[in-house]
Amino acid sequence: MVKAVRVHEYGGPEVMQIEDIELPPPGPGEVRVRNHAIGVNFIDTYFRSGHYPVPRKPFIPGNEAAGEITAIGAGVKSFAPGDRVGYTVSLGCYAQERNVEAARLIKLPEAISYETAAAMILKGLTAQYLLRRTYKVKKGDTILVHAAAGGVGLILCQWGKALGAHVIGTAGSAEKAELAKRAGAESVILYNEVDFAEAVKALTRGKLCNVVYDGVGKKTFPGSLDCLRPLGMFVSFGSASGPIDAFDLGLLSRKGSLFATRPMLYSYIAKRSDLDRMTNDLINVVTSGEVRIPVNATYRLDEAVTVHKALEARETTGATVLLP
Ligand code: NDP
Repeated sequence: MVKAVRVHEYGGPEVMQIEDIELPPPGPGEVRVRNHAIGVNFIDTYFRSGHYPVPRKPFIPGNEAAGEITAIGAGVKSFAPGDRVGYTVSLGCYAQERNVEAARLIKLPEAISYETAAAMILKGLTAQYLLRRTYKVKKGDTILVHAAAGGVGLILCQWGKALGAHVIGTAGSAEKAELAKRAGAESVILYNEVDFAEAVKALTRGKLCNVVYDGVGKKTFPGSLDCLRPLGMFVSFGSASGPIDAFDLGLLSRKGSLFATRPMLYSYIAKRSDLDRMTNDLINVVTSGEVRIPVNATYRLDEAVTVHKALEARETTGATVLLP
C-alpha cells in the first residue's frame, strides 16, 4: 500500500483526500518510482475542479515529480533500479510511489536535487518552449510576462533576460514585483492597480512588445493584445483567472496583424527527441546558474488541500513542492 492524494468528484481543494492505494508491479515499458518531491502546478487545480476533464475518476492529481527507480517492468533497457529520475506526465503524481512509462523519464544529473527537479521539469520545459520555440526570443526583444512572480513566471524572467531580452513583468503585489525584478524583469507593473497596457506603452515609449506570455487569461484579455507591436505574438498559455471567451479573429488584424496561439507543453514534448533536446537546454541554463529554480515553499503530501488554497488565493510565489 502507498499513500496518495485522490479526487473522487470535481470541486474545491477540499475534494482532495489522502488515501492508501494498492500499486501493481510496473507493467511492460514502465518503471516504479519512489517520489521524493512532487511539483505543484496551477494546472493541477484545473484537473481538480473539472476545468480540464480527466479520463476517469477517482484520480490522483499532479503532473510532475522526481524520485528514485525501485523496480522496472519487462522490456525496460535504459533505466535501472536506483536511477534518479524526474518526469512530467498527465496526472498521478501526488503519491508516494507510482508506475511511469520509461519513455517519459528524464535522468537527473547529480547537480540537480529532487526538489529542484520537481519544481523545474513541467515549469522549466514550459519556459523552454515558450521562449525558444513558440516565439524565438532574440537579443534586444521586449517581452511581457504576466504573473511574473509565479512558478513559470520567475523562470521566464530569468531565462528571457539571459537571452538578452528586455523583460517587463506584471504582478499582484509589490512584494511579488520585487521578486520578479530580482529575477531579471527591468520593470514590473502592478496590474491590479494600474492599466497594464497603458503602462507598457509608457515604458516602451510606444514601441510595445514583440511577444506577450499570458498565463492569466480572462483578466488580461484583450489588454494583452494592446501591448503588442504590429506582427507581435500573443501566447496564451494558461488561464489562472479563467478562460478567455471566444473572440472575433478580426481583432487580431485590427490590432496590427497579430499572431495568437494557445500552446500546451505536451504537444511540444510528444516526440522523445524534442523532450531530450528541451531537457538538455533546461539543464544547461540551470546548472550554469543562468536560471535559478525558485522552490519558495515545501509542504507534506497530506497538505495538498492547503497548497491548492494558497495557489488559488494567489498567496504563492515561484514553485511549491510536496514532500511525500
Ligand atoms: P503560478 O505560480 O503563476 O500561479 C498563478 C498566478 O496567476 C498567481 O500567483 C497570480 O499571480 C496569477 N493570477 C492572476 N489572476 C489570478 C486568479 N484569479 N486566481 C489565481 N491566480 C491568478 O502558476 P504556474 O506557474 O503553475 O502556472 C502559470 C500559468 O501557466 C497557469 O495559467 C498555468 O496553467 C500555465 N501553464 C501552462 C502550460 C502550458 O503548456 N500551456 C504549462 C505550465 C503552466 P499575481 O498575484 O501576481 O497576479
